[in-house]
Amino acid sequence: MSPVRAYIGLGSNLDDPVFQIRQALEALEALPGCCWVAGSPLYRTAPLGGPPGQPDYINAVAALDTVLTPDTLLAALQDLETAHGRIRAERWGPRTLDLDLLLYGQQVSADPRLTLPHPRLHQRAFVLYPLYDLAPDLILPGHGPLSELLARCPFQAITRLDSAD
Ligand code: ATP
Ligand code: CA
Ligand code: CA
Repeated sequence: MSPVRAYIGLGSNLDDPVFQIRQALEALEALPGCCWVAGSPLYRTAPLGGPPGQPDYINAVAALDTVLTPDTLLAALQDLETAHGRIRAERWGPRTLDLDLLLYGQQVSADPRLTLPHPRLHQRAFVLYPLYDLAPDLILPGHGPLSELLARCPFQAITRLDSAD
């Protein structure tokens, strides 16, 4: 099987989120069956949805070329979440690490266990900005050019961190 370009969305808002995201990016660099392409800068974002009063999120996106199937890649991402101490409690509640499979090549799937592209990707500034850093010319299956999604995205408070932060 020839490798497929996949994009992973990372998020954390517990237990030193910057550290969690840096560690997760390193773990993704070493993921078996995957060849590391690039990681975006880190962004700080106010939480969207979920319980009130939860801390800000740190977000990033990683690009990988992979020979894993989408299901196997998602399972590997979920293992990594568990290794980072993620406990699945309330929906959109605070978490040490969230890894979403944003895109798997041009694949489209409506399966609720693995929806591709990720179902809320196109509405989220904290996904679209770091994705744009990595692949400004990307065309998203079913959604069109990334640059147009970014232009249409509702305003959200988001700041890019300096690499020294
Ligand atoms: P959101 O999906 O809105 O970003 P979340 O990341 O907090 O919310 P989770 O609790 O991490 O949601 O995941 C809920 C379920 O979403 C998972 O059990 C998984 O099977 C499913 N899922 C569907 N599509 C995807 C995808 N593209 N990437 C990751 N999980 C997905
Ligand atoms: Ca998510
Ligand atoms: Ca998730």
